Amino acid sequence: MTRAICTYCASGPVEESYLELASQVGAGLADRGWGLVWGGGNTSMMGAVARATRRGGGSTVGVIPKALMSRERADRDADELLVTDTMRERKRLMDERSDAFLTLPGGLGTLEELMEVWTSGYLGMHDRPVVLLDPLGHYDGLLSWLQELPPGFVSQQALQHLVITRDVESALQACAEPL
Ligand code: AMP
Repeated sequence: MTRAICTYCASGPVEESYLELASQVGAGLADRGWGLVWGGGNTSMMGAVARATRRGGGSTVGVIPKALMSRERADRDADELLVTDTMRERKRLMDERSDAFLTLPGGLGTLEELMEVWTSGYLGMHDRPVVLLDPLGHYDGLLSWLQELPPGFVSQQALQHLVITRDVESALQACAEPL
């Protein structure tokens, strides 16, 4: 089955372990015949995941706000590059085009994207997998904080809605599984 996987990841770091992880995800998507939906930028992990997807023969759909085309180096090699007027429009189109959401290490932008699909998922507003791939322990502090909050803040049901994985294969498998 062909699937399109929305991948959120960092636009800044250039450390090899992060770029390699993003490349492995792109290669894994292409191996399965799946496509990538991403933020359309060519920098850091965002660029690495898109290049690796295309190298493997997979298709890439980038969605980028006009105002970020220079800052995030809009990827002209994308199979489709959708340019939006606003960030909200970007997120709407990424959502519409995707069968699952996969988050890799990232910064504030990535976190914001993850939180939106995670919260809307556990509230029942969509039923697509929300998967975190974190072999490097990037999110350990955040996850511990969420788990240790006093009762009533974050339910077990909400926590369990996020599928946390430590390797690329498990992450991609989780993207294919119904909730
Ligand atoms: P970062 O994780 O901060 O490196 O950002 C990763 C991606 O998230 C970049 O393409 C940012 O443009 C994007 N981003 C930043 N802020 C937001 C936001 N409010 N909503 C959606 N995406 C965002």
